[in-house]
Amino acid sequence: MDMVVRTERAPGAGETLFGDSFALSPGGKGANQAVAAARLGGKVSMIGSVGKDAFGNELLDIMRQEGISTEHIVQSATQATGVASIVVDGEGENRIIVVPGANIELGPEDIKLLENVISSAEIVVMQLETDLQMCEEAAAIAHRYSIPVILNPAPARALSDEMLRHVTYLTPNESETGVLTGMEVNSVEAAEQAAQILLQRGVQNVVITLGSKGALIVNASGSTYVAGFPVQAVDTVAAGDSFNGALAYQLTEGRTLQEAVRFANAVGALAVGKRGAIPSLPALPEVERFLKAVEKN
Ligand code: ADP
Repeated sequence: MDMVVRTERAPGAGETLFGDSFALSPGGKGANQAVAAARLGGKVSMIGSVGKDAFGNELLDIMRQEGISTEHIVQSATQATGVASIVVDGEGENRIIVVPGANIELGPEDIKLLENVISSAEIVVMQLETDLQMCEEAAAIAHRYSIPVILNPAPARALSDEMLRHVTYLTPNESETGVLTGMEVNSVEAAEQAAQILLQRGVQNVVITLGSKGALIVNASGSTYVAGFPVQAVDTVAAGDSFNGALAYQLTEGRTLQEAVRFANAVGALAVGKRGAIPSLPALPEVERFLKAVEKN
């Protein structure tokens, strides 16, 4: 559950400010990505954990309303629902602290029991607000069954070569790419160099999201820059998540990686044009209208 404070500027250490507003907003990277794919028409089953508390009940209700299967979301008896404390400043930039709570209760042993769920999927999407060993196990299972894996390495953490070899599409943003490679990534050229390091470590396709600039695809056939769509950004929360959900949906629809990334850029642009995480995620007709309007101009 996102707890969002809006303020003209973020406070410094020891400083107290009056903010402009406060709102509770359903979110979490996994939930955002699941809803992003479901709103576009994807058939989504979510694996995860929430608390046996008001936030947990609300999040489960929301997932069900979005048509997402919650059969494999457990309610922890001991841990509270994960929360994120988000400060959005006057420029629309956000600063986030995540308290994972129930999210990290699921471990590798739990995921082993869900081998049949993973092996019957068309694609597996993961992010790192969960237990890393569980993600490693899920990626290993998917790899064994040749199910493609999208790993959004956020928040960024060191990843083993074995894990990277099991990832079909790695989707870091610029700062996450920096953490993964030890490079400073602030241009398309630097992103390309960093991606080469990740390819050498075993990832099949690296898709680096570049904020308003769009995204860069790097794989064995070379690198392709896919431009973003210029929009007025009001809130960048869930830009990356909307991108990942859209990418997954498009790949299961049989699109090429380049087509999927272009579509995901459009979804990301629409998400930054609206406030909130889940509330900002577009449905398919909105994306189609947006792309038609862009093509006309
Ligand atoms: P994250 O939200 O994980 O930091 P990015 O900022 O790279 O990731 O954004 C993810 C995607 O969302 C980008 O690749 C792009 O498609 C879209 N996007 C993000 N910010 C903007 C923006 N200001 N204008 C247009 N598209 C954007």
